[in-house]
Amino acid sequence: MSASEPVVHVALLPSAGMGHLNPCLRLAAVFLRYGCKVTLITPRPTVSIAESNLISRFCSFFPHQVTQIDFNLIPLDPTTVAPNIDPFYLQFQTIRHSIHLLYPILSSLTTPLSAFIYNVSLISAVVTISEKLFCPSYIYFPTAARMFSFTAYVSVLADSDPAAQPHPSAFIGDAVQIPGFTSPIPRSSVPTAFLLQGSNSFQRMIMEDSRKLTKLDGVFINSFEELEGEALAALNEGKVVRGLPPVYGIGPLMPCEFENVDQGQKGGMSWVLEWLDEQAEGSVVYVSLGSRTETRKEQIKDMALGLIECGYSFLWVVKLKRVDREEEEGLEDVLGSELMSKVREKGVIVKEFVDQMKILGHPAVGGFVSHGGWNSITETVWEGVPILTWPQHGDQKMTAEAIRMSGVGIWADEWGWGTEKVVKGKEIAKKIKEMMSNESLRVKAGEMKEAAKKACVVGGSCEVIIKRLIEEWKKNA
Ligand code: UDP
Ligand code: UDP
Repeated sequence: MSASEPVVHVALLPSAGMGHLNPCLRLAAVFLRYGCKVTLITPRPTVSIAESNLISRFCSFFPHQVTQIDFNLIPLDPTTVAPNIDPFYLQFQTIRHSIHLLYPILSSLTTPLSAFIYNVSLISAVVTISEKLFCPSYIYFPTAARMFSFTAYVSVLADSDPAAQPHPSAFIGDAVQIPGFTSPIPRSSVPTAFLLQGSNSFQRMIMEDSRKLTKLDGVFINSFEELEGEALAALNEGKVVRGLPPVYGIGPLMPCEFENVDQGQKGGMSWVLEWLDEQAEGSVVYVSLGSRTETRKEQIKDMALGLIECGYSFLWVVKLKRVDREEEEGLEDVLGSELMSKVREKGVIVKEFVDQMKILGHPAVGGFVSHGGWNSITETVWEGVPILTWPQHGDQKMTAEAIRMSGVGIWADEWGWGTEKVVKGKEIAKKIKEMMSNESLRVKAGEMKEAAKKACVVGGSCEVIIKRLIEEWKKNA
């Protein structure tokens, strides 16, 4: 950028959880790659240690181009908070509740803003101030275009009979047929909280946000043509909702160097990679249910039995608590010493945060048993590894559908949600064998990897979109 050109300045606001923070920082890294100045607004305190570590690594990796500003949250009155609420969901609510503190932060930035990009969970709150910002505002949607289409379309469904004011449980029916979609979304794939009788904050959030989408200037989504072409086309051709802003498929958001967990840290998890180095190519099953899903005590023994029986070596990452700060119990306490030693004969089990990208990129890894978190999925696509999805909650059945349709993974849909029943070790072993021995899955995963790399190279879909936006923002400066 020459000295006379205007500075393109993008501010980003993530919300809670690694699944929401990772795509935010990777998107920020894309803008940094194209010479933009970035301001990262960080809600504090973060829920997990993993989040605060990642923010520190990001800021120290880009000391000159990134300005980090703390957004100190005002805690909710504990008497108004539902008991046993998911702490990440509580954080969404706390950020929304503190949103009046955001405008003073944004309006005091010394370099004028070209664009403000924030997390989907904050739409209704941020829309109230974004009109005052005098710059375009966008959301980044951290999951599949299929889920985004659902979020957009529910307001159309609800309004199709305005007099009736139906409850989601009624207007969802047996399945949701989104215009432009070949396969409908069955009721059983809809996030369970959305269907609960009565009213809950999750339903209110989705319904409110769905109606506000047309007020945005655009939506960044971590997906791309070959992975979810049908959904992206339906959204951008106005089939899903008329008047939606552009939905930019800028995915897959590439893993970046700043994420490297072991960078300059002692006591890291590099021994896991050293163990992988000793394993034969494509021989290891990697198992992880993401950063914020605890493996239930009732399920953990059968998971161990399934892995022991499947005949492959494995790297199994187990979380016993949703929030890493609360992890206290040892794995042996849960599995018992006998089962623990059998597990250790056949594979590796850890409960620490691992460098997932390095693991997925290791030639020894031949398959991934995943909860279907969209970041994990796009990372796996990036590395061309076949997937077996086991949805646990939220959007994960919709991501499982997207993966099955794309041909890069299978989904054990008879297992239901992770919390519904205990899946027996024998069934787990059978499905793992099915994934690991499926040649067409491996070929398709390889082809999708090629397509993913093409989307990210010079002249690829991500660059085309970002450069065009930067030009627009410069014109408007
Ligand atoms: N992750 C990781 N190490 C772990 C667990 C998770 O690096 O031990 C990363 C993973 O690579 C992904 C993110 O954390 O980028 C998790 O997001 P995802 O959408 O897959 O699932 P969530 O954790 O939000 O359920
Ligand atoms: N949730 C909650 N209380 C509610 C509704 C939802 O704690 O009233 C939780 C739900 O279990 C899920 C999250 O909030 O963990 C909803 O978000 P979603 O699954 O769509 O997002 P993600 O898990 O991908 O962040």
